[in-house]
Amino acid sequence: MFNSLSDRLTETFRNLRTKGRLSESDVNKTVRDIRLALLDADVALPVVKTFTHNVRERALGAEVSEALNPAQQVVKIVNDELVTILGGETRGLRFAKQPPTVIMLAGLQGSGKTTLAGKLAFWLKEQGHTPMLVAADLQRPNAVTQLEVVGQRAGVPVFAPERGNIAGHDAVGADIEGTRSHGDPVAVSRNGIAEARAKQHDVVIVDTAGRLAVDENLMQQAADIRAAITPDEVLFVIDAMIGQAAVETAEAFLEGVDFTGVVLSKLDGDARGGAALSVAEVTGRPIMFASTGEGVKDFEVFHPDRMASRILDMGDVLTLIEQAEKAFDRAQAAEMERKFLAAEDFTFDDFLQQMAAIKKMGSLKSVLGMMPGMGQMKAQLDAFDEREFDRVEAMVRSMTPFERNHPKQINGSRRARIAKGSGASTSEVNQLLERFGEAQKMMKQMAKGGMPGMPGMPGM
Ligand code: GDP
Repeated sequence: MFNSLSDRLTETFRNLRTKGRLSESDVNKTVRDIRLALLDADVALPVVKTFTHNVRERALGAEVSEALNPAQQVVKIVNDELVTILGGETRGLRFAKQPPTVIMLAGLQGSGKTTLAGKLAFWLKEQGHTPMLVAADLQRPNAVTQLEVVGQRAGVPVFAPERGNIAGHDAVGADIEGTRSHGDPVAVSRNGIAEARAKQHDVVIVDTAGRLAVDENLMQQAADIRAAITPDEVLFVIDAMIGQAAVETAEAFLEGVDFTGVVLSKLDGDARGGAALSVAEVTGRPIMFASTGEGVKDFEVFHPDRMASRILDMGDVLTLIEQAEKAFDRAQAAEMERKFLAAEDFTFDDFLQQMAAIKKMGSLKSVLGMMPGMGQMKAQLDAFDEREFDRVEAMVRSMTPFERNHPKQINGSRRARIAKGSGASTSEVNQLLERFGEAQKMMKQMAKGGMPGMPGMPGM
């Protein structure tokens, strides 16, 4: 996520760090580097101009010359200005006074609307809401079925038009590729909301059709739906990877449908992503959510301040803490701490518990990506194969409870049985046990010598 931009900015600040005092030419050079980094990341030109202008003005002002550490002060200014272009304050969803709250999704085809519908519904459900999805994308042959699958995954009901009435479905509901819609998305949306009201769902998410490119019919349809259902929020979903076209697309949707907030999708991709950074500034609409993968939990509330510090590679410690609090059981955590301090052996059972907690936080990659300094380890992070953990877990699960708690007792024949049970090779089991033994030793040493110091903030 914003990897190259992050690298470039970190590099710029690294050069600055050695300076006690900043001359005008230091500031100019820094601003020039920032400008290039932003342009290379596809941030829209007008946004780059405002941004660098503001940074330069402030960097030459008293705030920096009087600072104890001018370089750090510049990082802070860049951070502040990033927060500003990202929309400033975190903006939560606005709920209707009279339920149901109606949320309409708009965006190009493939931008990630349907996927988002599921994530948003899942997230709302976790907060105690009772969302319902409405399939008003009658354009794409499989869209209704896809939304039904997404709804199932999120555990929320989906209101879909009668089979036989819509694109891609014949009378028995089988998909027919390539057929076109004759259904009426406005009527479906209206009926969906009526159904939600009748069944007392407090939030309705309406998934609408997109096209591959902005076109008038599409805009008209979305505008018609909007007019018919007067949504409380219209969320414009945009693929963070579409580059410079993002600004144009956003402007077209702003004019054609208008929206109240933006959702950045596919932020997990290694794209330059900077165009997405321009969207809030160019449209004046806040970025409200970020989508970071294909799973139903790969979704987060967008916090401009945290995103800025992530881009500056200060890690997103706050998000991490919040997610960890949700995922970790306090009693379990206390038990782990006790064991650790008592220098008791860390067992495979502990390991399984921790893995389960991490998995609850989302994909391991996204968890690791939020740690400070991970920007510098992005190659390793990119190469990281999530399935590796599944293989390890399979081996651990093939162990008996005795073996999990006494790894040292796992002899040759036990190893062969574990390998067989998990579909791994004996040498993979050997490797796992070896690495586990080392980790156990390391944890003991740490427990004796106290915790290792927190890693310093990179780039500072
Ligand atoms: P729609 O046409 O706007 O409804 O888009 P979809 O929800 O069907 O998404 C298009 C494709 O992008 C699908 O293959 C999704 O699995 C994928 N996708 C959606 N959101 C994300 C995301 O945040 N990250 C990644 N990597 N893929 C995503």
